[in-house]
Amino acid sequence: MTDWHKLALEKIAKQEELPEDKIRLSGPIEHDSIVNGDGLRAVLWTQGCPNHCPGCQNPETWDYCGGMVVPIDDVLKQLSELKGQTGLTFCGGEPFVQPKQCKIIADYVRKELGWDVWSFSGFTYEIIKEYGKEPWEFLKSLDAIIDGPFILKQRDLSLRFRGSKNQRLIKLEYGTGKILSIE
Ligand code: SF4
Repeated sequence: MTDWHKLALEKIAKQEELPEDKIRLSGPIEHDSIVNGDGLRAVLWTQGCPNHCPGCQNPETWDYCGGMVVPIDDVLKQLSELKGQTGLTFCGGEPFVQPKQCKIIADYVRKELGWDVWSFSGFTYEIIKEYGKEPWEFLKSLDAIIDGPFILKQRDLSLRFRGSKNQRLIKLEYGTGKILSIE
């Protein structure tokens, strides 16, 4: 594990100080999105990112004290009122710095709304698995992850749902985190 990853994981530990019944978001919940995964999707924009990728389109989401703290019950209510969505995607920011909160929301939309769940992450699948604990538990609640940092030199606008060639669309087996396919 590199120093860069150690720093990122220390940030994850820091973010766990947020009460589990609240989540820090960078903006309002989106809906009817067709650019953040298959189907018609709601999108949750999380706040706080340790990755600081040069060329990031959302640098305002990096600050751990930015955005707004929202009760998770309010998020669930808003999501349950949306019509016609087939899934939820976590974007950021870095969703995996708030893994407990994201897992609660992921479990709710799967069980109560019948949606599938995707997440972006600047961490790779392997780093999340190696770290274990809450980030791995959140990953196991997903159907797909788009992993890895955005690398400006590898930018490719032709990729589905991704910004740079190093990023992978990984379909997962729900409940185990096992890789089903990699694009
Ligand atoms: S991981 Fe995403 S939000 Fe974070 S710096 Fe990289 S591109 Fe921006």
